[in-house]
Amino acid sequence: MGTVYLTGAGPGDMDLLTVKALRLVKEADVIIYDRLANPDILHEAKDGCEFVYVGKEDSHHTLPQEEINEVIYQNALKYNCVVRLKGGDPFVFGRGGEEGIYLRERGIKFEFIPGITSAIAVPEYAGIPVTHRGVTVSFRVVTGHESKNKDHSQIPWDNYKTDDTIVFLMGLHRLKKICQKLIEIGKSKDCPVAVISKGTTKDEKTVVGTLETVWDLAKDLPTPALFVVGEVVRLREQLSWFEEDKC
Ligand code: SAH
Repeated sequence: MGTVYLTGAGPGDMDLLTVKALRLVKEADVIIYDRLANPDILHEAKDGCEFVYVGKEDSHHTLPQEEINEVIYQNALKYNCVVRLKGGDPFVFGRGGEEGIYLRERGIKFEFIPGITSAIAVPEYAGIPVTHRGVTVSFRVVTGHESKNKDHSQIPWDNYKTDDTIVFLMGLHRLKKICQKLIEIGKSKDCPVAVISKGTTKDEKTVVGTLETVWDLAKDLPTPALFVVGEVVRLREQLSWFEEDKC
């Protein structure tokens, strides 16, 4: 029986893979990977390493989570070093906890390898700090894609009137609804919003607007994308660097 390494692959730029993750990728007998993990990472694997793709699209899963859990488990019975490579960090909307519980229940050893999460790194590549002295004292990371089985929102919207930076993941298709909701609960319609698509990759693109305008400006952006709501977005005027360098 092997060990499963539930490994964060970082947000896209291959150089944002941690040293520990790279070491495990090189040692792996099998790598079970997601759509969001940069596929170039696989070139680092040793000869004979097996690759299993269990990619998920934003809203429809190629494989249901239960089946992914089982694929990981079966590979742990077969191989010594199993790397489960996931976009960003395994615990930030990555379902890494569910995979860990499934393995624990079956007596399989595992380790978590943190990854650089897109929630912080993607805004950073766009020149937007999630906190900034004098602008905001905290930030939140929220799913924009709530479970369809729930008939009412689990997001406590009334708590969102504060000046916290809010980073929404998985929510591009609901951008308009979310902006409208934030205006409805009392945020200024002029509150700045940045939508960042394919962050940290050569195709990164950022669109900036306000709660009132951004959804129209960003409607053609491809996924993966996240959006940042808050005054920190204005700092991009002074801090943007990555997209400039690419031009
Ligand atoms: N565990 C991941 C997040 C998984 S949820 C992490 O820590 O980064 C998937 C969502 O992350 C996507 O829908 C998108 O909102 C965001 N995301 C991941 N990679 C991204 C990227 N390169 N650019 C923009 N958004 C990204």
